[in-house]
Amino acid sequence: VFKGAEAKEAAEESVEVEVREDEDSAVVRRRKEAEREIERAAILRKRYDIHISGHNVPAPLESFEELVSRYDCDSYLVGNLSKLGFQEPTPIQRQAISILLSGRECFACAPTGSGKTLAFLLPMLMKIKPGSKGCVKAVILCPTRELAAQTTRECKKLAKGRKFGVKLMTKDLSQDGNFKDMHCDILVSTPLRLDHAIRKRDLDLSRVEYLVLDESDKLFELGFVEVIDSIVKACSNPSIIRSLFSATLPETIEALARTIMHDAVRIIVGR
Ligand code: ADP
Repeated sequence: VFKGAEAKEAAEESVEVEVREDEDSAVVRRRKEAEREIERAAILRKRYDIHISGHNVPAPLESFEELVSRYDCDSYLVGNLSKLGFQEPTPIQRQAISILLSGRECFACAPTGSGKTLAFLLPMLMKIKPGSKGCVKAVILCPTRELAAQTTRECKKLAKGRKFGVKLMTKDLSQDGNFKDMHCDILVSTPLRLDHAIRKRDLDLSRVEYLVLDESDKLFELGFVEVIDSIVKACSNPSIIRSLFSATLPETIEALARTIMHDAVRIIVGR
């Protein structure tokens, strides 16, 4: 039988023990959840022949529905995916999308025709918001004009229903464009045209949140290293997310990628 101060002390002690036990079980629960998540990620990567290097890499997507349930994707995008006939993500989409949505950078290597375009467009459209004139939020660099035009078309289709300004950098635009009065959230360009516009037309890229180097092996092969470097510097927002996509990943490209990105996850689909 306890009395007064003794009773209070005993009661406090037992509460403390209970709190500690609760905390312990919460820690154990979280650890088990983390272990299950790692296991789930490993099974998915094995199933889809995805190879990664990097720490704490989020699990690949199991389905496009997960974009809504897990990543709070606006339903218009999922609607557009199904209208375009995209039912299931391809392997590169499964892994690159979850990485980019978690705010990490990546360089991704997957064969031609494996759906790399959607792998960078989808997280980009989820991350940026349609904005005002004179504020570019995303830049996509492509090695050729044809590819830039094709990517612009894909992007417009996927963004349908939202007021995104999606612009292809043409010769006229890079020579005479008035970017300050233009509503352009997403700018698709070849390196030289973009570099020209930055120098001659005073194009401000300091608020770009998302930079993609598509077919980066070709971008670098064509001798654009210095131009790309100056574009990367012009996109000076410290919280920018950069990504490289490519069909091959020679060591030289990987070395260049590492000069641009510091904590990027490498993704290779197939071998
Ligand atoms: P890559 O850039 O890897 O060469 P693309 O992005 O051009 O490949 O995609 C190749 C084709 O596959 C395109 O016609 C594209 O519309 C289609 N595609 C992309 N993702 C999917 C998907 N999840 N389901 C079905 N088709 C897809």
